[in-house]
Amino acid sequence: MYSDFARLFFALSVFLLVSCGTGRNTDDTPFFEMRGVVLAWDDVKNPEVIDWLDIMHKNGLNTISVFGKDYKSVEYLKFKQQCIDEGFDFEYEEHAMSWLLPRDLFKSHPEYFRMDENGVRQPDGNGCPSSEDGLKVIMDNVREFAESHAPTNHRYYTWLYDGGDICHCDKCKKYNAADQGLIFENHIIKALREFDPEAMLAHLAYSNTTPAPSIVKPEEGIFLEFAPFFRRWDKPLSDREAIRDGEYWTHGDYLDMLEDNLAVFPAETAQVLEYWLDVSQRSGWKKPQVQLEWHNDVFLDDLKTYADYGIKNITCYAAWIDEYYVKTYGDISCVEDYAVGLRDYRSGQSRQK
Ligand SMILES: [Zn+2]
Repeated sequence: MYSDFARLFFALSVFLLVSCGTGRNTDDTPFFEMRGVVLAWDDVKNPEVIDWLDIMHKNGLNTISVFGKDYKSVEYLKFKQQCIDEGFDFEYEEHAMSWLLPRDLFKSHPEYFRMDENGVRQPDGNGCPSSEDGLKVIMDNVREFAESHAPTNHRYYTWLYDGGDICHCDKCKKYNAADQGLIFENHIIKALREFDPEAMLAHLAYSNTTPAPSIVKPEEGIFLEFAPFFRRWDKPLSDREAIRDGEYWTHGDYLDMLEDNLAVFPAETAQVLEYWLDVSQRSGWKKPQVQLEWHNDVFLDDLKTYADYGIKNITCYAAWIDEYYVKTYGDISCVEDYAVGLRDYRSGQSRQK
């Protein structure tokens, strides 16, 4: 009798523990796994005025990328270590093609580089993805790049040359810009996985690579990074007719391109790189910077849009929310709104209008 009672008590305890555990996982775990921010070095270097790590702790951001400072400098490495010690993921989101395919090779090996529409090789953009020897140079340089820019989350970013045109040589003609990028990335991921078997590599859908690849398929480990650079931030992506003055793509076009990309790349690993908080973009990359017009309703609506596509990784430029910004404008509640919106979003949350 006693042992039956003990067994019942034990079974009840296990049931309660499991129930509580399950409840905790489903109710309290944020839907968005990566809740990130991409900052300039000047934004983080003066924590007495704006302490980004403290803001991240208090509001649930978990991933940081910092550009604009020599990645080998003592100050930079010290900051990186501090981020890691405090439990954040640290990564490097940057254009890297000039690093992987050094421009000084153009003189001796112009065939590594892209051909323009007039049949002339150019050192100003990306390489020729049909050049086997050029691809080999890139692969040989991957390890040094990746080790000196080692992320804590195995997510690597070797974005193509910013704004660079594509290769128009006979062999490359059939590929669109995203195909050409993917050929490079499919080689880079192989080189990465030789020393980091868990490596993941971003395929940045941005500018001319926003339309999905048409021919080339991604190798395992390539993830979509969707960056709707030419959208508006005063209207949600769900407003399909919205279009920024002078631009070509409507929000509807962006959503269609996102869907096309998600037919090629897995949604589970896909990531969004947004500009909701990008003061540098709103200022035309000219200081002194303007005050951000923050549209929390648009941001929350966009989160719903991305979540409905199954995207669980979100990061955002917040460049130039720095010492000057705080001293001049004071209010940085937009940053808290962003972080809390990400942290508190739950699957199936209704759209806020
Ligand atoms: Zn080519």
